[in-house]
Amino acid sequence: MAKEGHKYIFVLGGVMSGVGKGVVTSSIGLLLQQKGYKMNLVKVDPYLNVDAGTMNPTEHGEVFVLRSGLETDQDMGNYERFLGRDLTAEDYMTSGMVYQSVIARERGLGYGGKCVEAIPHVRDEILHRIESASEYNGSQISVIEIGGTIGDFQNALFIEAARVLKMKYPEDVLFVMVSYLPTPGTLGEMKTKPTQMAVRDLNSYGVQPDFIIARSKELVDEKRKEKLAIWCNVRKDRIISAPDISSIYEAPLNFEKDNLGDAILDALKLPEKKKTSLVAWKKFARAVANTKAREVTIAIVGKYFDTGDFVLSDAYLSVIEAIKFSAAKLGHRAKIVWVNSKDIEKGGREAAAVLGKYDGILVPGGFGETGIEGKIKAIQFARENKIPYFGICYGMQLMVIEYARNVLGLKDANTTEIKKSAEHPVVDVMLEQKKHLAANKYGGTMRLGVYTAYLKKGTIARAAYKKELVEERHRHRYEINSSYVKSLEEVGLVFSGTSPDGVLMEIAELPRSVHPFMLSTQFHPEFQARPLDPHPLFTEFLRAAIVKNKRK
Ligand code: GLN
Repeated sequence: MAKEGHKYIFVLGGVMSGVGKGVVTSSIGLLLQQKGYKMNLVKVDPYLNVDAGTMNPTEHGEVFVLRSGLETDQDMGNYERFLGRDLTAEDYMTSGMVYQSVIARERGLGYGGKCVEAIPHVRDEILHRIESASEYNGSQISVIEIGGTIGDFQNALFIEAARVLKMKYPEDVLFVMVSYLPTPGTLGEMKTKPTQMAVRDLNSYGVQPDFIIARSKELVDEKRKEKLAIWCNVRKDRIISAPDISSIYEAPLNFEKDNLGDAILDALKLPEKKKTSLVAWKKFARAVANTKAREVTIAIVGKYFDTGDFVLSDAYLSVIEAIKFSAAKLGHRAKIVWVNSKDIEKGGREAAAVLGKYDGILVPGGFGETGIEGKIKAIQFARENKIPYFGICYGMQLMVIEYARNVLGLKDANTTEIKKSAEHPVVDVMLEQKKHLAANKYGGTMRLGVYTAYLKKGTIARAAYKKELVEERHRHRYEINSSYVKSLEEVGLVFSGTSPDGVLMEIAELPRSVHPFMLSTQFHPEFQARPLDPHPLFTEFLRAAIVKNKRK
């Protein structure tokens, strides 16, 4: 089945979650790509959801949409940003997806009347997906991140699949364990025992790690590396110290200093095809982390801010990164301020006025009713006070609603997502979407993935992209209602981007003569912003914010 000589690197987490398996996977991808190998990076998500589209953003973070339209985990966003290229639907799987295929085959008598079991059938489906991802992408090396921690029930079948792959191709499979070495405050000493236990746990699956990436607060010293080497059966030069860093983009640079790329090639008995060049990456990483650069402050007005152990910013991860890339390109450092739209809703105009101190206001994508009136107030404030505004998806729909209400004078303008009986449904559900909703078919049924947009001449959008046709990724059910387009345009709103047939509105903007930057998109530009290739619309937004900042 597998191409002869294709290599697989599995990245597993020991001790605890959240210590950076995704960054390790992305970094290995970048390093080996820089050494001349064609890479594909796979995320295995043990959730039973069939895709990430139905996962809760406050618990699971951002839903990252691939070019193909598959809704995936935010790690896929990091993979694409580090590799600087698109990944495919084959590069992502959840337990739900795997089981769904097995069950569908069983219902179709695809197993020839046999009893269907986790082993071998589910395991083999996992193997089939891992192998076809590498074939589909024509890659030479796959790096596969297994979500969760060693010892979880949920990911055991995936580890078992990895073990079997190693058995099939002993020379072609590597295991990298990302572990954590705590330094308890009372002792003041870094401890290796949890890592030893995690390796023992992994051994009980029949898997031996080849590398240990030892995450910790500070550098792991030689003594501890020796201890780990002896107790974990891992060569000392394959224990890589990975202390905390201020930006994830430093990680590949640190790994390269420790020769991780060479060590992996050595372990896989592969030659270095070309000398690693991280010059451009290093320049970018330095620019992003440059604390001396002038700060430009962007307020993100959103609602996904209030759950227990979830990291506040995760729900908007790609938006934040896109802002950082463009700010760095313009020689600035982005400071992001979170503004809860519910607070603006409660506090009214006064609360919105607080936004006046920021250099730019951004309303990102979202769903449902919560905090909507607060977002609309924020947009009105940005428009009336000429503060650079960038709206994404819901942020465009609400910008159009605000304009319809306060400029066109349609007081009851709304989206039917919130008010079905709105007198003026300026934003309405698309026809084919009505069928999905009537049948309660929510998962994977939105307008998803890449669509082409045509950009009108003489607009901010066209000047930013310097192109007539662009492809951008979508994730929405509602659209600007075309019956209001003409009257909105008559009072000054410009729809600078549309579907090529002119039916769907893709970008709305105000001319520069009335506002320094007031632009929003129905699509999600953040998914295609890359470290070495920032997104033109984010760059234009930041440029306008910097102008405002300089006036202070
Ligand atoms: N809720 C809106 C819709 O479904 C916007 C979606 C979004 O912002 N991603 O159309």
